[in-house]
Amino acid sequence: MAVKKLEYITPTTNGEANAAAKAHCTVCGRGFLNMRGVSAHKRFCLKSFEAEAANPRPRSDQKLDALVKKKKREAFVEAEHRIVYNDDRIHNVYSFKYLGAKLMNHGSDEDEVEDRVAKTQGAFTSHSGIWRDMSIPLALKIRLFKVRILGILLYGCESWKVTKKILKYIRGFTARCYARMINEPYVEMSIVLSQINVIDIIEKRRWKWLGHVIRMDKKRNPYKCLSIIDHSPGSLLAHLPLNIRNLDSRNLAAQDRSEWMNKTFFRRITLNMQCP
Ligand SMILES: [Zn+2]
Repeated sequence: MAVKKLEYITPTTNGEANAAAKAHCTVCGRGFLNMRGVSAHKRFCLKSFEAEAANPRPRSDQKLDALVKKKKREAFVEAEHRIVYNDDRIHNVYSFKYLGAKLMNHGSDEDEVEDRVAKTQGAFTSHSGIWRDMSIPLALKIRLFKVRILGILLYGCESWKVTKKILKYIRGFTARCYARMINEPYVEMSIVLSQINVIDIIEKRRWKWLGHVIRMDKKRNPYKCLSIIDHSPGSLLAHLPLNIRNLDSRNLAAQDRSEWMNKTFFRRITLNMQCP
């Protein structure tokens, strides 16, 4: 659940980017995040320090720009007013890990999903012998993918506020993995979703968990948290069918465990419709 808007951060200047760079062009001195950035730059290199200084090109939408902005945000949060508890000033942080999930100070889950995709990519690569082996049936590979890989990718997805960007990350990652399994460079998204409907899997997990939370003791914290979740697109309650949107009808529907999924999952407003 997003709790506050991202602060405005000034555009990255060439000086800031060069200071944070981990690799530099040996000809003009322009900084980059890694050597891959340097080799991509060679075609556009201005061939001298003077020409580079006289023609400062924008840094927006580069990985180095994202890194500089992240550092600025961390410094911004650090400088914010600190809460005092038992005479201790509590340290302000931009993000922290709790029960394996990355929590951001602004409440967005996009960084957490980006992290999870990176972790899952490692797990997927560690099984590359299986994905490359064309003698293994595709159905078996898909089952293995759902058990070994999606478990890591979707850890904690029940509490995500699913945005367009998050859906894009997850669909894109699944499509890349599926293309590797069938040994093709590219595959249509509709074909991927017909084989591994990752959005359906996310929704099913969210509905099951929501049923458990609604049936919980009213004094427990997860139940209390339901009262502060709104119905905006991507939130846990956003795709509830219209006939069980109020508190009483929702509680009544959740009491019948066997019917809960029929009343919700099969009649839901899908994330695909909300965040196309
Ligand atoms: Zn250069």
